[in-house]
Amino acid sequence: MSLPRTDTIVTYADGDIASSGTVVHVEAVGDRLAVVLDRTAFHPVDPVWPDQPADQGVLTVDGVEHPVIGAVVGASDGSRLYVGDAPVRTGTEGWAFVVCHLLEPSASGASVVEGAAAQVTVDPLVRGALSAGHTACHLASLALNEALAPLWSKEVPLDGRGNPNFDQLAITESRILPDGSLDTYRIGKSLRKKGFAAADLSERLTEVEDFANALLAEWVASGAAVSIARAGDGLGERRAWRCELPDGVVEIPCGGTHLRSLAQLAGVRVGLELLGVEGALELRMTTAATPAA
Ligand SMILES: [Zn+2]
Repeated sequence: MSLPRTDTIVTYADGDIASSGTVVHVEAVGDRLAVVLDRTAFHPVDPVWPDQPADQGVLTVDGVEHPVIGAVVGASDGSRLYVGDAPVRTGTEGWAFVVCHLLEPSASGASVVEGAAAQVTVDPLVRGALSAGHTACHLASLALNEALAPLWSKEVPLDGRGNPNFDQLAITESRILPDGSLDTYRIGKSLRKKGFAAADLSERLTEVEDFANALLAEWVASGAAVSIARAGDGLGERRAWRCELPDGVVEIPCGGTHLRSLAQLAGVRVGLELLGVEGALELRMTTAATPAA
């Protein structure tokens, strides 16, 4: 058994939903079989920041289709393969980051062995809906940052459009859903110390929501191009969502999948909800994307 020493080449960044590759490693993990290919179009979930769920689809080896029942980022330092539980962040130097396609163990009795040729086929509808949801999620975060900008009184890190980066400073969880997303932000003592007027948010919530939705409508109407900027195609390479918004190009670090253009959307709207949770405020932003007909 040889451990993978190089990153899986991933082709989903350009929107690929099918790929051909070679099996480079097969390993039993619990009651699953983890299969690593040299290249794949299959987007895995990253357990370190599990915003976008894994693709759905099949792995075909020797004419036999094996349903992929999960896909997760794996990592190896040469001593063992960590499947979804790497002790380092994706991209850490000295490690190989790989897509682990999880199959039923019965696939091991078949021809799914190292060196075999394998075809990956991703469900296009699931992928399309998640890509729309992920692109909408990034737009929503930028719109929220601008809508909340007047509530900051101190200098804090800015987003790619020059607004205080509330999204980055306060986010605790992001979930990409089919045609939408759910983002959770914590507004506690540390954010107030950084100059965020948390006490004013409640009464201005509708105003903030309306402002964000107006911006989103403008951006969707622009039909701006979307692409993935990247240094390379290895899973561990840095990638960024890049959108050519009317007031300038903006980038957000991101390992997910996206639309190619905002023209693929008919609309994006956010809903905001403020809750008191354990001595702090929790802001929940629900984003809904409507695909263009
Ligand atoms: Zn992202």
